[in-house]
Amino acid sequence: MKPGGVYGKVYVLRLGHRPERDKRITTHVALVARAFGANGFVLEGDCDESVMNSIAKVVERWGGPFHLECGVPGKSYVRAWKKSGGEVIHLTMYGVNVDDVIGVIASSPRPKLIVVGAEKVEKYYYEEADYNVSIGLQPHSEVAALAIFLDRLFRGEWVYLEYEGARLRIIEAVRGKRVEGEGRKRPPQEPRGLREAPS
Ligand code: SAM
Repeated sequence: MKPGGVYGKVYVLRLGHRPERDKRITTHVALVARAFGANGFVLEGDCDESVMNSIAKVVERWGGPFHLECGVPGKSYVRAWKKSGGEVIHLTMYGVNVDDVIGVIASSPRPKLIVVGAEKVEKYYYEEADYNVSIGLQPHSEVAALAIFLDRLFRGEWVYLEYEGARLRIIEAVRGKRVEGEGRKRPPQEPRGLREAPS
């Protein structure tokens, strides 16, 4: 499969990012989105440049395509997505069990916007979503919920994804690390105290 799979566009909309406390988790939402087969990440509200830059760097090194967007109003983004023929899937512990809806969602060819929150998600999204989907009826994490949802959507095929334009590619190894495309490393430096004293 290619990023986005058979749906053309599978984007993740991250709501309610709080720059002072959510940088790491929002970055992980975007990393999971990309690695598990989505082909876009959209950050509602103000742009957090540090988050967006770190994702852009990952795309530059490890490939894409991966659409990045920020500073968008979430509600009008959802409205526009639906108007252009896409469907909206809101991940929430209050939703319908993923097992009961994933068949219908996966078999529809429409582009998919997957919405995840940070803290309280406004009622609007529950009402506008085509599907409110729960990944178990317990509170946990947007990162875990997104990973499991994408895994189900793509039936596990995302593990074979190949990315275009990647500068780096991991070669699987039983032991150790093998990375294709890494530049020449600097020769190992001797620990300071062991260098010979200049004569
Ligand atoms: N109490 C918040 C609420 O009212 O939406 C949930 C906050 S939770 C830390 C952040 C996000 O994780 C949620 O907005 C949802 O997208 C996702 N999430 C957490 N548990 C989930 C679950 N069991 N199923 C689906 N999504 C979940």
